[in-house]
Amino acid sequence: MNKPVISKRMKDVEESATLQLNALAQKLKREGKDIINLTAGEPDFPAPAEAKEAVIQALQNEWSKYTPTAGIPELREKVAKVTNRSQPSLQSKHVWSGSEVVLTNGGKQAIFDVVMCLVDSGDEAIIPAPYWVSYPEMVRIADGTAVVIETGFENDFKITPSQLEKAITSKTKIIFLNSPSNPTGTVYSREEYQALGRVLEKHPQIWILSDEIYELIQYGHNPGVSFLEACPGLWSRTVTLNGLSKSGSMTGWRIGWSVADAKLTQKLIALQGHSTSGISSLSQAAALATLDLPSAYFEQHRQEFERRRDLALACLSNSAKIKVFAPRGAFYVWIQVQDVLKDDKDGIKEDAQKLASRCLQEAQVAVVPGNSFGANNFIRISFACKSEVLQEACNRLVQFFNS
Ligand code: PLP
Repeated sequence: MNKPVISKRMKDVEESATLQLNALAQKLKREGKDIINLTAGEPDFPAPAEAKEAVIQALQNEWSKYTPTAGIPELREKVAKVTNRSQPSLQSKHVWSGSEVVLTNGGKQAIFDVVMCLVDSGDEAIIPAPYWVSYPEMVRIADGTAVVIETGFENDFKITPSQLEKAITSKTKIIFLNSPSNPTGTVYSREEYQALGRVLEKHPQIWILSDEIYELIQYGHNPGVSFLEACPGLWSRTVTLNGLSKSGSMTGWRIGWSVADAKLTQKLIALQGHSTSGISSLSQAAALATLDLPSAYFEQHRQEFERRRDLALACLSNSAKIKVFAPRGAFYVWIQVQDVLKDDKDGIKEDAQKLASRCLQEAQVAVVPGNSFGANNFIRISFACKSEVLQEACNRLVQFFNS
């Protein structure tokens, strides 16, 4: 007898492991366990007061109807302006306008829609690893093939031009770039992006998706640049992805966007028009207010993240069993745990997933195993939590690693 079945498209697609672990940690917490959760990919700061005020005003003005699919023109223009500001070298070639912006339900939808508009069955998508969990899954949903380039400590978790050259084939359709990176916190310099750009110039069929959602959260004296600031000549085939989830501490408001040439933008709007339509009118009112905030607002959060990063690095240096990558951006620490993985009774080494669950039970700290990011011997911790909590969690981790 025929049974109802799930589509082939979704057969092997898994729920995000980050969300799964987060849910388990929440459950243990509800059961009364003293769990510290370092899995969350969201700032703990409140949303801007100006954003809240804008929503109250919008509600009072009954501003609660459908908006255009791509967002209200005023907000699209503002996003174009902000993007132009971070890509000054592009301005002599191309100045983004509001018509090239699509507001999406978080950065995630922008990436998903880009993949749906660009990747056909059999197309290859180059994804540097460690990668943000959803990139390969999105490619899989589009029936494309993820071509993963491995990176490690030797190149600060960045791909090199020769690695890129080797990974490109006639089927390559798109490359994902993410700087600052989740999970490693690595940041590409202008020169490094230019070197990759010289390779990409030779392959005009390749689209570039530059995920810059952590743009405003960077540390040190030499911050990285937007991909198109380094490689303006590639503007017509580059999509810049950004949003307010991380920089505005507004994860739940679902405000992201893509900035791309008009032809692709038309298709992105068509897709969104048949799926979610425009994002919430209230979130758009909030986004307008948040994008008007002075840079000092974002800077205070960046500085607080930097203090926490330094605190976590100082504490974790008390374990010689792990190797830690000092992040230059975002709010995660990427930790190699190869030397703390245990053998089971059959002599088989546990993976990071097992280690993470042992860590949750023994140290009562929830971390994300590297498996989800394409790296088995690593874990990721988030330092988007109060300093006291972070200090206690890192102490527990050090004790756990050293035991
Ligand atoms: N890109 C990266 C690298 C991320 O880490 C995230 C969120 O964790 C996103 C995109 C999506 O962000 P949003 O919450 O705006 O959908």
